[in-house]
Amino acid sequence: MNSPRVAIVTGAARGIGAAVAERLAADGLAVAVVDLGEQACAEVAARIESAGGRALAVPIDVSDEDSVARGVALVAERLGPPTVLVNNAGVLRDNLLFRMTNAEWSTVMDVHLRGSFLMSRAAQAHMTKEGFGRIVNLSSTSALGNRGQANYAAAKAGLQGFTKTLAIELGKFGVTTNAIAPGFIATDMTRATAERMGVSFEELVEHGVKDIPAGRVGTPADIAAVASFLAREDAGFVNGQVIYVAGGPKG
Ligand code: NAD
Repeated sequence: MNSPRVAIVTGAARGIGAAVAERLAADGLAVAVVDLGEQACAEVAARIESAGGRALAVPIDVSDEDSVARGVALVAERLGPPTVLVNNAGVLRDNLLFRMTNAEWSTVMDVHLRGSFLMSRAAQAHMTKEGFGRIVNLSSTSALGNRGQANYAAAKAGLQGFTKTLAIELGKFGVTTNAIAPGFIATDMTRATAERMGVSFEELVEHGVKDIPAGRVGTPADIAAVASFLAREDAGFVNGQVIYVAGGPKG
Protein backbone atom coordinates (compact mmCIF):
# COMPACT_ATOMS: atom_id res chain seq x y z
CA MET A 1 0.00 0.00 0.00
CA ASN A 2 1.46 3.33 -1.01
CA SER A 3 -0.29 5.61 1.44
CA PRO A 4 1.10 9.04 2.24
CA ARG A 5 2.93 9.02 5.52
CA VAL A 6 2.65 12.34 7.29
CA ALA A 7 2.18 12.44 11.04
CA ILE A 8 1.07 15.18 13.40
CA VAL A 9 2.14 14.80 17.01
CA THR A 10 0.71 17.30 19.49
CA GLY A 11 2.50 18.31 22.66
CA ALA A 12 5.68 17.22 20.88
CA ALA A 13 8.06 19.83 22.30
CA ARG A 14 9.10 17.53 25.13
CA GLY A 15 8.40 14.34 27.05
CA ILE A 16 6.27 11.62 25.52
CA GLY A 17 5.28 13.74 22.50
CA ALA A 18 8.90 14.47 21.56
CA ALA A 19 9.76 10.76 21.84
CA VAL A 20 6.77 9.81 19.68
CA ALA A 21 7.70 12.43 17.06
CA GLU A 22 11.30 11.21 16.92
CA ARG A 23 10.23 7.56 16.76
CA LEU A 24 7.74 8.15 13.93
CA ALA A 25 10.38 10.12 12.04
CA ALA A 26 12.82 7.23 12.50
CA ASP A 27 10.07 4.96 11.12
CA GLY A 28 10.17 7.05 7.95
CA LEU A 29 7.22 9.39 8.43
CA ALA A 30 7.41 13.14 7.87
CA VAL A 31 6.42 14.62 11.22
CA ALA A 32 4.71 17.87 12.16
CA VAL A 33 5.97 18.80 15.62
CA VAL A 34 3.05 20.59 17.26
CA ASP A 35 3.15 22.45 20.58
CA LEU A 36 2.40 25.89 21.96
CA GLY A 37 5.68 27.69 21.27
CA GLU A 38 7.47 27.99 17.95
CA GLN A 39 10.94 27.80 19.52
CA ALA A 40 10.21 24.60 21.46
CA CYS A 41 8.76 22.93 18.36
CA ALA A 42 11.71 24.08 16.27
CA GLU A 43 14.22 22.44 18.60
CA VAL A 44 12.59 19.00 18.32
CA ALA A 45 12.14 19.42 14.55
CA ALA A 46 15.84 20.30 14.23
CA ARG A 47 16.79 17.21 16.24
CA ILE A 48 14.71 15.04 13.89
CA GLU A 49 16.24 16.66 10.81
CA SER A 50 19.78 16.26 12.09
CA ALA A 51 19.05 12.56 12.64
CA GLY A 52 18.11 12.35 8.94
CA GLY A 53 14.34 12.62 9.28
CA ARG A 54 11.82 15.10 7.89
CA ALA A 55 10.06 17.46 10.30
CA LEU A 56 8.13 20.70 10.40
CA ALA A 57 7.65 22.84 13.51
CA VAL A 58 4.02 23.95 13.73
CA PRO A 59 2.89 25.99 16.72
CA ILE A 60 -0.74 25.14 17.48
CA ASP A 61 -2.85 25.64 20.58
CA VAL A 62 -4.93 22.48 20.27
CA SER A 63 -7.77 23.98 22.31
CA ASP A 64 -8.21 26.85 19.83
CA GLU A 65 -10.30 26.14 16.74
CA ASP A 66 -8.67 28.76 14.47
CA SER A 67 -5.18 27.76 15.53
CA VAL A 68 -6.00 24.10 14.77
CA ALA A 69 -7.51 24.93 11.36
CA ARG A 70 -4.50 27.08 10.37
CA GLY A 71 -1.97 24.57 11.69
CA VAL A 72 -3.45 21.47 10.07
CA ALA A 73 -3.81 23.34 6.74
CA LEU A 74 -0.13 24.32 6.96
CA VAL A 75 0.89 20.71 7.55
CA ALA A 76 -1.12 19.55 4.54
CA GLU A 77 0.40 22.27 2.36
CA ARG A 78 4.02 21.80 3.46
CA LEU A 79 4.27 18.05 4.17
CA GLY A 80 1.21 16.56 2.50
CA PRO A 81 -2.08 15.25 3.87
CA PRO A 82 -1.69 14.17 7.49
CA THR A 83 -2.70 10.51 7.84
CA VAL A 84 -1.34 9.88 11.34
CA LEU A 85 -2.42 11.97 14.33
CA VAL A 86 -1.18 11.48 17.86
CA ASN A 87 -3.25 13.52 20.33
CA ASN A 88 -0.68 13.81 23.10
CA ALA A 89 -0.83 17.46 24.29
CA GLY A 90 -1.74 17.58 27.94
CA VAL A 91 -1.76 19.59 31.12
CA LEU A 92 -2.36 18.90 34.80
CA ARG A 93 -4.33 21.12 37.16
CA ASP A 94 -4.50 18.76 40.14
CA ASN A 95 -6.61 19.63 43.16
CA LEU A 96 -8.99 17.90 45.52
CA LEU A 97 -12.57 18.28 44.40
CA PHE A 98 -13.59 20.69 47.17
CA ARG A 99 -10.77 23.05 46.20
CA MET A 100 -10.90 22.59 42.42
CA THR A 101 -11.66 25.84 40.59
CA ASN A 102 -13.78 26.17 37.47
CA ALA A 103 -10.65 27.23 35.61
CA GLU A 104 -8.74 24.11 36.71
CA TRP A 105 -11.62 21.96 35.48
CA SER A 106 -12.03 23.80 32.17
CA THR A 107 -8.35 24.04 31.26
CA VAL A 108 -7.92 20.28 31.54
CA MET A 109 -11.10 19.59 29.55
CA ASP A 110 -10.09 22.13 26.91
CA VAL A 111 -6.62 20.74 26.22
CA HIS A 112 -7.31 17.01 26.45
CA LEU A 113 -10.88 16.61 25.24
CA ARG A 114 -11.62 19.68 23.14
CA GLY A 115 -8.06 19.58 21.79
CA SER A 116 -8.32 15.96 20.69
CA PHE A 117 -11.76 16.63 19.21
CA LEU A 118 -10.62 19.68 17.21
CA MET A 119 -7.43 18.02 15.97
CA SER A 120 -9.18 14.76 15.05
CA ARG A 121 -12.01 16.54 13.24
CA ALA A 122 -9.53 18.59 11.22
CA ALA A 123 -7.25 15.64 10.42
CA GLN A 124 -9.96 13.11 9.56
CA ALA A 125 -10.93 15.18 6.53
CA HIS A 126 -7.52 14.31 5.05
CA MET A 127 -7.51 10.72 6.29
CA THR A 128 -10.93 9.78 4.91
CA LYS A 129 -10.01 11.39 1.59
CA GLU A 130 -6.81 9.33 1.47
CA GLY A 131 -8.64 6.17 2.57
CA PHE A 132 -6.04 5.66 5.28
CA GLY A 133 -5.55 7.04 8.76
CA ARG A 134 -4.26 6.32 12.23
CA ILE A 135 -5.44 8.32 15.25
CA VAL A 136 -3.76 7.63 18.58
CA ASN A 137 -5.08 9.32 21.72
CA LEU A 138 -3.15 9.57 24.97
CA SER A 139 -5.33 8.42 27.83
CA SER A 140 -3.88 7.47 31.24
CA THR A 141 -4.20 4.97 34.06
CA SER A 142 -5.73 7.97 35.86
CA ALA A 143 -8.87 7.26 33.79
CA LEU A 144 -9.51 4.56 36.42
CA GLY A 145 -9.53 7.19 39.16
CA ASN A 146 -6.76 9.10 40.91
CA ARG A 147 -6.93 11.25 44.03
CA GLY A 148 -6.65 14.95 43.24
CA GLN A 149 -7.37 14.46 39.54
CA ALA A 150 -11.16 14.63 39.13
CA ASN A 151 -10.64 16.84 36.07
CA TYR A 152 -7.79 14.84 34.52
CA ALA A 153 -9.37 11.43 35.27
CA ALA A 154 -12.65 12.56 33.68
CA ALA A 155 -10.82 13.85 30.61
CA LYS A 156 -8.71 10.70 30.23
CA ALA A 157 -11.76 8.43 30.69
CA GLY A 158 -13.61 10.66 28.22
CA LEU A 159 -10.85 10.12 25.69
CA GLN A 160 -11.46 6.37 25.88
CA GLY A 161 -15.11 6.84 24.86
CA PHE A 162 -14.02 9.31 22.20
CA THR A 163 -11.53 6.73 20.88
CA LYS A 164 -14.08 3.94 20.64
CA THR A 165 -16.62 6.19 18.91
CA LEU A 166 -14.13 7.42 16.32
CA ALA A 167 -13.16 3.79 15.71
CA ILE A 168 -16.80 3.00 14.91
CA GLU A 169 -17.37 6.07 12.73
CA LEU A 170 -14.09 6.10 10.79
CA GLY A 171 -13.26 2.39 10.50
CA LYS A 172 -14.84 2.00 7.11
CA PHE A 173 -12.60 4.72 5.68
CA GLY A 174 -9.43 2.82 6.56
CA VAL A 175 -8.92 4.98 9.63
CA THR A 176 -8.21 3.32 12.97
CA THR A 177 -8.45 5.06 16.33
CA ASN A 178 -6.81 3.67 19.44
CA ALA A 179 -5.70 4.96 22.82
CA ILE A 180 -2.57 4.44 24.85
CA ALA A 181 -3.05 4.67 28.60
CA PRO A 182 0.38 5.13 30.18
CA GLY A 183 1.14 4.53 33.84
CA PHE A 184 3.98 6.39 35.54
CA ILE A 185 6.29 7.80 32.86
CA ALA A 186 9.34 9.85 33.81
CA THR A 187 8.76 13.28 32.22
CA ASP A 188 8.51 16.95 33.19
CA MET A 189 4.84 16.27 33.98
CA THR A 190 5.64 13.70 36.68
CA ARG A 191 8.56 15.86 37.89
CA ALA A 192 6.08 18.71 38.37
CA THR A 193 3.80 16.32 40.30
CA ALA A 194 6.67 15.49 42.68
CA GLU A 195 7.35 19.18 43.19
CA ARG A 196 3.68 19.87 43.90
CA MET A 197 3.60 17.03 46.42
CA GLY A 198 6.70 18.42 48.14
CA VAL A 199 8.81 15.30 47.52
CA SER A 200 11.87 14.73 45.34
CA PHE A 201 11.38 13.04 41.98
CA GLU A 202 13.50 10.13 43.23
CA GLU A 203 11.15 9.69 46.19
CA LEU A 204 8.12 9.73 43.90
CA VAL A 205 9.74 7.11 41.65
CA GLU A 206 10.71 4.91 44.61
CA HIS A 207 7.15 5.07 45.94
CA GLY A 208 5.60 4.47 42.48
CA VAL A 209 7.81 1.51 41.57
CA LYS A 210 6.47 -0.50 44.54
CA ASP A 211 3.18 -0.92 42.65
CA ILE A 212 4.69 -1.62 39.21
CA PRO A 213 5.27 -5.33 38.43
CA ALA A 214 7.92 -4.46 35.82
CA GLY A 215 9.96 -3.00 38.67
CA ARG A 216 10.60 0.36 37.06
CA VAL A 217 8.81 3.47 35.90
CA GLY A 218 8.21 3.97 32.19
CA THR A 219 10.12 6.11 29.73
CA PRO A 220 8.80 8.22 26.84
CA ALA A 221 10.38 5.61 24.52
CA ASP A 222 8.12 2.92 26.04
CA ILE A 223 5.10 4.91 24.85
CA ALA A 224 6.68 5.82 21.51
CA ALA A 225 7.14 2.11 20.73
CA VAL A 226 3.39 1.48 21.10
CA ALA A 227 2.47 4.60 19.12
CA SER A 228 4.83 3.41 16.39
CA PHE A 229 3.04 0.05 16.25
CA LEU A 230 -0.45 1.60 16.18
CA ALA A 231 0.60 3.95 13.35
CA ARG A 232 1.80 1.11 11.16
CA GLU A 233 -0.13 0.16 8.06
CA ASP A 234 -0.29 -3.49 9.13
CA ALA A 235 -1.93 -2.55 12.45
CA GLY A 236 -5.13 -1.79 10.54
CA PHE A 237 -7.26 -4.41 12.32
CA VAL A 238 -6.52 -2.98 15.78
CA ASN A 239 -9.29 -0.43 16.23
CA GLY A 240 -11.02 1.17 19.21
CA GLN A 241 -8.63 -0.33 21.74
CA VAL A 242 -7.16 1.14 24.89
CA ILE A 243 -3.67 -0.23 25.49
CA TYR A 244 -2.44 0.20 29.06
CA VAL A 245 1.31 0.69 29.04
CA ALA A 246 2.00 0.65 32.72
CA GLY A 247 4.45 -2.14 33.47
CA GLY A 248 1.70 -4.41 34.75
CA PRO A 249 -1.83 -5.64 34.18
CA LYS A 250 -3.61 -3.12 36.39
CA GLY A 251 -3.91 0.29 34.92
P1 NAD B 1 4.58 17.08 29.40
O1 NAD B 1 3.96 18.05 30.34
O2 NAD B 1 6.04 16.80 29.56
O3 NAD B 1 4.33 17.54 27.89
C1 NAD B 1 3.07 17.96 27.46
C2 NAD B 1 3.23 18.90 26.29
O4 NAD B 1 1.92 19.32 25.86
C3 NAD B 1 4.03 20.17 26.66
O5 NAD B 1 5.10 20.35 25.77
C4 NAD B 1 2.99 21.27 26.53
O6 NAD B 1 3.51 22.54 26.09
C5 NAD B 1 2.02 20.69 25.50
N1 NAD B 1 0.72 21.36 25.54
C6 NAD B 1 0.00 21.70 26.64
N2 NAD B 1 -1.11 22.38 26.28
C7 NAD B 1 -1.10 22.46 24.93
C8 NAD B 1 -1.97 23.05 23.98
N3 NAD B 1 -3.08 23.71 24.36
N4 NAD B 1 -1.66 22.95 22.67
C9 NAD B 1 -0.52 22.30 22.27
N5 NAD B 1 0.34 21.74 23.13
C10 NAD B 1 0.07 21.82 24.44
O7 NAD B 1 3.70 15.76 29.51
P2 NAD B 1 4.06 14.21 29.22
O8 NAD B 1 4.34 13.57 30.52
O9 NAD B 1 5.00 14.09 28.08
O10 NAD B 1 2.60 13.71 28.79
C11 NAD B 1 2.16 13.61 27.44
C12 NAD B 1 0.75 13.04 27.41
O11 NAD B 1 0.74 11.77 28.07
C13 NAD B 1 -0.29 13.88 28.12
O12 NAD B 1 -1.51 13.82 27.45
C14 NAD B 1 -0.38 13.22 29.48
O13 NAD B 1 -1.62 13.50 30.09
C15 NAD B 1 -0.23 11.77 29.10
N6 NAD B 1 0.23 10.92 30.20
C16 NAD B 1 1.42 11.13 30.82
C17 NAD B 1 1.80 10.29 31.86
C18 NAD B 1 3.10 10.46 32.62
O14 NAD B 1 3.33 9.74 33.60
N7 NAD B 1 3.98 11.36 32.23
C19 NAD B 1 0.96 9.24 32.26
C20 NAD B 1 -0.24 9.04 31.59
C21 NAD B 1 -0.59 9.89 30.55
